[in-house]
Amino acid sequence: MQLPREVVVGEGTIDLIPGICKKLELRKSAFVITGKTTYRIAGKRVIDLLQDSGVEVDYEIFGSSSEISDVKIAESRIIKGKPQVILGVGGGNKIDIAKLSSAHQNIPFISVPTAATHDGIASPVASFKRQERPYSMMAQSPIVIVVDTEVIAKTPRRFTASGCGDAIAKFTAVRDWKLAHKRRNEYYGGYAASLALMGAKHVIDNAKIIGVGDEEGLRVLLEALISCGVAMGIAGSSRPCSGSEHLFCHALSLLKPNSMMHGECCGVGTIMMAYLHNEDWELIRKTLAVIGAPTTAEDLNVDPELIIEALKMADKIRPERYTILNERKITYEVAEAIAKRTGVI
Ligand code: ZN
Repeated sequence: MQLPREVVVGEGTIDLIPGICKKLELRKSAFVITGKTTYRIAGKRVIDLLQDSGVEVDYEIFGSSSEISDVKIAESRIIKGKPQVILGVGGGNKIDIAKLSSAHQNIPFISVPTAATHDGIASPVASFKRQERPYSMMAQSPIVIVVDTEVIAKTPRRFTASGCGDAIAKFTAVRDWKLAHKRRNEYYGGYAASLALMGAKHVIDNAKIIGVGDEEGLRVLLEALISCGVAMGIAGSSRPCSGSEHLFCHALSLLKPNSMMHGECCGVGTIMMAYLHNEDWELIRKTLAVIGAPTTAEDLNVDPELIIEALKMADKIRPERYTILNERKITYEVAEAIAKRTGVI
């Protein structure tokens, strides 16, 4: 099990980073991985704060998409500079570069997310693209997570809605995991599953508060995403947090790349997979609607035919991952019926 040692959530928490590094005896040198926009929003401040406290800081600003080649660049800088700690300051991509490069080089990593769009902010799993296909791999859990709600509150509402979609996805991910245990005797950790499910329930129970869009709702979402990330650290895989709804989302992203956010299509996927699981799919749809997250093909701005196509191909995205999609053949007619019945198309 890998668990973070400190999780700090609140207004202005970025200012606490030098003190936390000091407490953990990481006071000599640091390497900061950030992006162009996130450098302006938070990266520069983190670098300045660390330097002012006497830490020797090296940093790199990466482009918008995270490539595995970026991890290699980061690693060569780590090998050269030998920092004591790596900080990933930015959205999911920058955090993934920091997560994987630090894991490869066996150095602790601090996660400083600037958006609450998915559960990667606290998880040990890094996601990249290989030949346009998304794939995830185990890296390491952050030793510290610092979430400054003042920074995250400035991101578009769409980002928060996407984060909610990724948290709600655990509703079906956990059921797929249990199913894989039953059918394939796959390892199933009840505690990790409960923790992930609790994240999803937390969002469902507090949908109205999140929908208002203030700090209270943001906190609810952050707590949910962090507990989902920790669930993966306990399980030692992405199983508790990624099931058939993620496979659907990956398939749809292949058919229409770069047009929707990860959590947005996972949320829509969860509606349909909850239906297949014979669970309360209407509750999922209602929750997403209250939050202001997409619930239909139209909301996602994709052609209904692509939804059907994605449902058909979802079980082939990661064949080793057994889910509800393996329980019956998803033909064109079946896929169309699922999407129509749940109001997605
Ligand atoms: Zn996800």
